[in-house]
This record gives sequence, structure tokens and C-alpha cells, in this order.
Amino acid sequence: MGKGKLFLVSTPIGNLEDITFRALKTLQEVSLIAAEDTRRVRKILNRYDISNRITSYHQHNELPKGKKILTELMQGADVALVSDAGTPGISDPGYRLVKSALEEDVEVVPIPGPNAAIAALSISGLPTDSFFYGGFLPPKKGERRRKLQLYQEITATLIFHESPHRLISTLEDLHQVLGDRRMAIARELTKIHEQVWRGRLKDLMDNIDKLTLRGELTLVIEGRAKRPQVAPLEAATIKDDYQRLREESGLSQKEAMKQIAKERGISKSEVYKAIVKG
Ligand code: SAM
Repeated sequence: MGKGKLFLVSTPIGNLEDITFRALKTLQEVSLIAAEDTRRVRKILNRYDISNRITSYHQHNELPKGKKILTELMQGADVALVSDAGTPGISDPGYRLVKSALEEDVEVVPIPGPNAAIAALSISGLPTDSFFYGGFLPPKKGERRRKLQLYQEITATLIFHESPHRLISTLEDLHQVLGDRRMAIARELTKIHEQVWRGRLKDLMDNIDKLTLRGELTLVIEGRAKRPQVAPLEAATIKDDYQRLREESGLSQKEAMKQIAKERGISKSEVYKAIVKG
């Protein structure tokens, strides 16, 4: 008999309807569901009329339980790994099991779905083309500031999880270390009390009494401003180009200036000034 497969099944981060057909099918068909919180997965199974074998797999039993799960996989059983919420392995247990499964040549299959960081980023209004996911920041102030200092040069949008009782202190550190950047605080996404606050750090701090300091929070902060590139605009080079175009291509003064402006993405008057200056 061949080995089983390990399915990483993403589950809702709030709204129980945020689960894919494939996730439900997998939860029904596997031989065993390894769940960070067995009560939560039972809630999902009940809601969708699924019954299956569940075992607990969390940070306190990761090693011994991981071995047992691996044995089942090696014996041919398919296993679904489910975390407390969202995508297993992302700031949740799962990585070790994935690693040991791969070491034993067990196939690991993603069943993609909700993820708090991506959900928060997508509605933040901050650039999404590149982002840095920092998970949870250290709970202690000193360590948190040191960590943020390491991140201050990153130009990608930054994403962190934070607990509500540390929010004020973390906002202070973000402001102190990163400056008055734009940010979004996403609270209780997909749940009844979903709220998103967007603004500059200073503004959010000044209006902290308007924020509800309860529930689950994800912070999205703008990356460091990109320093302007030093444009190759030296007058001499522009003048060289101009002379070459005039002599070699036989373009008129006007045509040559127009072409340089187009090639360099600058205005014709800038080209003119550079030629006169050069
Ligand atoms: N694996 C999860 C995922 O894929 O989203 C992340 C797990 S991490 C341990 C849990 C943290 O995600 C919470 O402490 C909170 O910061 C954030 N989070 C979870 N659900 C959220 C929600 N509905 N809205 C905003 N943030 C949420």
C-alpha cells in the first residue's frame, strides 16, 4: 500500500461560510483530521454535516503527535491538517509536520482558503504588489523595537498580527521606529463586528479611544518610502545625445529634442535647458 497524503486545509477566520467545496470534500474523505482546536473543527463539521475522526495537534503536543500522524501517513492514511483558523502553518502549527512529511517523501497538498494577513492586506488600501509578513511582533517592548529597527528599511508593505491589549504600546513603537506612516488596523474580519481603521499612525494614536480594543487584529503598515532614483539627467549626456542625433540622424533641432524627451520620459523644456546648460 502506498503512502497517504497530507492535506493542509484552510478554514474560516470568522465567517463559517468562508470554506471551499474542496476543503469540505477533503475533510469528509480523509482518514483522520489533525486539528489545532478540536472543538472548532467539530463546529465546522457539524455545520456541514460531516463526521470524521479528529485528533488534536497543537504547539504543546507537536512532536509526539506529529510522529503518530506521520506513522498513519506512512501506513497509507490520508490526513487533513486544520489550524485554529485560516491557513495551517502560517503563524500556526503545521510547519514541522509538513517538513517531516516531506522528509519521508509523503505528498503534501494545499487546500487554499482564508488567511487573515492576506484578507487584511487586500482591503488595506496600501500597495499589495510586494509585502512582508512578520507574524507576531515580540511582546516585550525592547525586543519589539529592536525587531522593528530591522524592518525599517523594507519598502514592501508590512503585515503583523497583534493582540488588542498590546495595540497602544505597539502603535507607539511603530510610530517611534518607522515614523508617521499610513496604516490599516483590521479587526474581526469576516465576523459581525468587522472594522477597519485606516490613517496615519499619529492620527490613529490620537484617536485611540474610538478604536475597540477587543477581538482579533491584523496590522498593515506602509513600507519605507522608495528613495528617488538618481536619474541619468546630467546635462552633458543629454547634450551628447542631442549632437549625435543632429549629426548622425540628421534630425532638426526640434525633432532631436522631441526624441530625447520621449526616450528619457522628460519634458522638451527640460531637454532644452540641459542642452543650453551643457
Ligand atoms: N493561520 C492563520 C491565518 O492563516 O490567518 C493566522 C494564525 S495567527 C495565530 C492568528 C492571528 O491572526 C490573530 O491573533 C489575529 O492577529 C489574526 N486574525 C485571525 N483572525 C482574524 C480576523 N478575523 N480578523 C483580523 N485578524 C485576524
